[in-house]
Amino acid sequence: MNHFLELKSVSYSYQTMEAETLALKEISLQIEEGEFISIVGPSGCGKSTLLNLICGLIQPDEGEILLKGKAMDQTAMNIGYMLQKDHLFEWRTIYSNVTLGLELQHKLDSDSRMRVDNMLKTYGLSEFAASRPSQLSGGMRQRAALIRTLAILWMMMGIILAAIGCGYILKKENKTAILVTHDLSEAISVGDRVVILSSRPAKIRNIVALDFDKNLTPLQRRNAKPFASYFNTIWKELQENECS
Ligand code: ADP
Ligand code: MG
Repeated sequence: MNHFLELKSVSYSYQTMEAETLALKEISLQIEEGEFISIVGPSGCGKSTLLNLICGLIQPDEGEILLKGKAMDQTAMNIGYMLQKDHLFEWRTIYSNVTLGLELQHKLDSDSRMRVDNMLKTYGLSEFAASRPSQLSGGMRQRAALIRTLAILWMMMGIILAAIGCGYILKKENKTAILVTHDLSEAISVGDRVVILSSRPAKIRNIVALDFDKNLTPLQRRNAKPFASYFNTIWKELQENECS
């Protein structure tokens, strides 16, 4: 059976005039539908490079990335990329920011408007539909950015790639997701598994499966028994890594 997303021995290096920098080395990883993967690793190890490869912004030098068994350029799978910076446009209202993707894809109709309205309600932004981004708090802006991403992904099976800070809101959506963060608590509160990368060139150092009760919220996880031991285990691995 095909995995939802599979990385097969993926390597990537950056070429500059002066040097070649190997960023990722033979990364192999399988992700199943609905899974939430947190990726942690030392700064500069290659985390952003990995996200850029998965969303097709750059291509691997070696190895391949398959979505449901097919090369990425052959699938209609949608990938939503949420960055730490929300990239909301100040000259547009919140409503016209969250519908921008739909508008660009000519998918803004009564159905999609209804879904957007529901999400604005769910995320407590209905009253701010006519506001400008600068009138919202940081958390509200991130929720608006999430709605914009989800609005486009809605119809298709999608995978969401996210940067630090987006984990908690993303968790609610039960989508297949990959979160890159250096906030270990965030990684452990939301993930099904935590992938630990080595320092550059990034290799997979370890994968820790998180065994919490199914229905715990991220906050409840933080207070649950296994949290501290996961935190210590992963923290230790990251430290050893930085020193080696
Ligand atoms: P992380 O997100 O884990 O901090 P990155 O994926 O951004 O790391 O970068 C991994 C390594 O690749 C960095 O240490 C850097 O040296 C190198 N790198 C990243 N972007 C470029 C680039 N555009 N040109 C050359 N080297 C780069
Ligand atoms: Mg980065």
